[in-house]
Amino acid sequence: MEQLPTYDDVVRAHERITPHAHRTPVLTSRLTDAELGLSAYFKCENLQRMGAFKFRGAFNALSRFDAGQRRAGVVAYSSGNHAQAIALSAALLDIPATIVMPHDAPAAKLAATRGYGAEVVIYDRWSEDREEIGAALAKERGLTLVPPYDHPDVMAGQGTAAKELFEETGPLDALFVPLGGGGLLSGTLLAAGALAPDCAVYGVEPEAGDDGRQSLRAGRIVHIDTPDTLADGAQTQHLGTRPFPLIRDHVSDILTASDAQLVDGMRLFASRLKMVVEPTGCLGLAGARALAERYRGKRVGVIISGGNVDLDRFARLVGG
Ligand SMILES: *Cc1c(COP(=O)(O)O)cnc(C)c1O
Repeated sequence: MEQLPTYDDVVRAHERITPHAHRTPVLTSRLTDAELGLSAYFKCENLQRMGAFKFRGAFNALSRFDAGQRRAGVVAYSSGNHAQAIALSAALLDIPATIVMPHDAPAAKLAATRGYGAEVVIYDRWSEDREEIGAALAKERGLTLVPPYDHPDVMAGQGTAAKELFEETGPLDALFVPLGGGGLLSGTLLAAGALAPDCAVYGVEPEAGDDGRQSLRAGRIVHIDTPDTLADGAQTQHLGTRPFPLIRDHVSDILTASDAQLVDGMRLFASRLKMVVEPTGCLGLAGARALAERYRGKRVGVIISGGNVDLDRFARLVGG
């Protein structure tokens, strides 16, 4: 296995993506601070290009392709945001893209991926293995596979969101980060280790799929069945082999959030911050709420990881 990324890789990734990515805002809400009894800083990656932090890792990985890889093209598998991130990055870098997506991916995500000019290959989420399909396409067509989290350039790219956050807020007492396969959390841990070594960093995953917490307790990667959760961006069956050692060695803890807590978060972001946030994007807030007592009066960061949710689904969830 290649070397794990370091903070230097996050710095280089930041240089590569800065001309193309948005420097997303860090927002605060007095009402929310009063309610939680702390000062919360929300890093708004729902306002990133294509609507999620995944643009950072995808663009960084594709920027590093050599001429042959660029000509042949990229293949990726994803339930949504990574697909759009690869499709947009490939379009910007003039690289052909093939994306393997589940049959039940949100309509807006399918349409957006096709809209960026990528070829979409559909698979059955429950009966087929996307990793096998991706690997077969890579072999048949000579494409380079960029996985959604288990890749050093993807991990380093994802760490740039926390780098920007710390550069803006200075050191924080705690940072709450949505957790699926661990690309975002591992990159965040690299940034925190260099910029805010005393900041406690927490991963927050769906209650129905707590493989990350199980893995931390067991000291090895635990595999689970595809979890049934509203958080479609964190419906992973296991942590990545590269993110895992960084998480195991540096994370303060892994927390979980129920679907009801995620919907509460969507309502809070809509009413207080006037923002559309997808269910997965609310994991960090749910974690901060769970530990609000411990961080009373402290400064706490929350990464809002994405905002891609069909409007009718958004209305159903926040309106119910
Ligand atoms: C992918 C994704 C996550 C999880 O990121 P990992 O790097 O897989 O841990 C969280 N939130 C959103 C919105 C995502 O798209």
